[in-house]
Amino acid sequence: MSVSAALKTRSTLFYGARVPQTISRACLVRAARFFTLSTTTENYPTNHVADGTKPYITPSFVNNEFVKSSSDTWFDIHDPATNQVVLQVPQSTPEELEQAVASAEEAFHVWKEYSIIRRQGIAFKFVQLLRENMDRIAGIIVLEQGKTFADAKGDVLRGLQVAEAACNVTNDMMSSGLEVATDMETKMIREPLGVIGSICPFNFPAMVPLWSLPLVLVTGNTAVIKPSERVPGASMIIAELAKKAGVPSGVVNIVHGKHDTVNKIVEDPRIKAITFVGGDKAGAYIHKRGSELGKRVQANLGAKNHLVVLPDANKSQFINAVNGAAFGAAGQRCMAISVLVTVGPETKAWVEDIVHDGAQLKVGSGFDPSSDLGPLVNPTALTRAIEIIDDSEKQGAKVVLDGRNFKPSDPKLAKGNFLGPTVITGVKPGMRAYDEEIFAPVLSVVNVDTLDEAITLVNANKYGNGVSLFTLSGASAQKFTKNIAPGQVGINVPIPVPLPMFSFTGNKGSFLGDLNFYGKAGITFLTKPKTITTLWKTTPFEEGLKPSTVMPTQQ
Ligand code: NAD
Repeated sequence: MSVSAALKTRSTLFYGARVPQTISRACLVRAARFFTLSTTTENYPTNHVADGTKPYITPSFVNNEFVKSSSDTWFDIHDPATNQVVLQVPQSTPEELEQAVASAEEAFHVWKEYSIIRRQGIAFKFVQLLRENMDRIAGIIVLEQGKTFADAKGDVLRGLQVAEAACNVTNDMMSSGLEVATDMETKMIREPLGVIGSICPFNFPAMVPLWSLPLVLVTGNTAVIKPSERVPGASMIIAELAKKAGVPSGVVNIVHGKHDTVNKIVEDPRIKAITFVGGDKAGAYIHKRGSELGKRVQANLGAKNHLVVLPDANKSQFINAVNGAAFGAAGQRCMAISVLVTVGPETKAWVEDIVHDGAQLKVGSGFDPSSDLGPLVNPTALTRAIEIIDDSEKQGAKVVLDGRNFKPSDPKLAKGNFLGPTVITGVKPGMRAYDEEIFAPVLSVVNVDTLDEAITLVNANKYGNGVSLFTLSGASAQKFTKNIAPGQVGINVPIPVPLPMFSFTGNKGSFLGDLNFYGKAGITFLTKPKTITTLWKTTPFEEGLKPSTVMPTQQ
């Protein structure tokens, strides 16, 4: 952008980034490239943008500065509720990607020397700033991603909780040691790996970057983060807050784009580990290629989560749980319930109540506090979901609650990607609605006769993210938890995501890698062990002995 264009533009940009207010000649050149975010703790999106508003330009974040990309390739990103273009995201250039990795590599040598107490102090400040900016981050999420404001605050909160847990680093990184022979001690410490690359999905713009960033920071690593190109705003604010908290220059870097950016993160030897959350295709490639290059990779992938209900369940607890877990966030959660398994004829009849209550949910703008769910992320996601529902009907399933023709009453939302809550009964493995992750407010109902059949069905599914059982029988719950394969099990809990004192433990086709996100596994993933053995003799040295040439056997 030319200097004059920068000056002209600065008054029209609203939500994202704009040049600093200074207009002195000396600052003009700098102003053309360096940005500040125009949202603040008090001033952030609370509604859809007016027609004709210029899209905001998403900057990169390198060396603690927001910088405008010099890229020729920019992606238009639409508000999912209106399909108006609200922002543009660059494909970071090769030079910009190189600069981000180089700055993270350089900063690593400084940051790892910060004492753990100092890093912990910065983590406490980071937590405080995240809390103060929760509404601001949530506002950007609603605009870019479409979820409701209350749900977007939950997105931030679940990330904030990881940051809070990261403050326990002084305990989590405690070394162990032992006097292994007379006057000889071995201690085992854990050291940071170096630069960590993080590749994030669209559905949790704040939570997913925060699943790893706080732990990356407290363990002494540095970060190159690629947010989803569809929802970069939350990451930009998080970067600003990390800087404000005292994270030094180069420790946190944010780059943008699609394949080229991912390839740089995967291929560059200075990046030692990769955290990925997203779909199966990208995740499988990144895990395979990263592993071939000797990197650590943790990859959380797609899901198909079942909720099994037994006739002895509390009916109203169950109905509320299903409606919230299947349709909340428009079904765009990796832990959303997408399959209901009714056991026996009695629970099959409860589907009518789900349909009745599901039909009452309000679909609309995420900025409207009365909305229960917002739109899908883009028209492609909407078209695909509708196609899957159509195909399942053709395959013999029955659509008993049909959200396909949903039209919002507010004319300004007429072009949004809205799908109303949808329930399909008579679904079986082999139908698209069962076999594919739909990632939309669509609940597929499968009926079986026994708990054993339900367990067999769930265990045959390729995914293993989450599963839930509704029952009032302890014995049935015990049998279920002992025999069920997915890695996150809820009993009368529809979305059993563990808090960050534990780890996120999806398995089977929902996870590639050995060490899960956050918790103890997260710290282990981001650090490597080192043992140090010392001998400080308290007895006099013996003169004239020959060197021992056999395997040492200290006693
Ligand atoms: P996605 O795979 O399309 O994108 C994820 C990231 O990978 C993005 O940053 C994107 O730019 C990049 N990417 C996409 N395709 C690529 C390719 N071919 N090569 C290289 N990079 C590529 O996923 P999404 O649509 O953003 O997110 C939804 C998916 O994420 C769902 O499948 C959902 O289940 C999954 N998810 C899983 C978890 C979990 O913890 N298991 C959590 C959140 C989301």
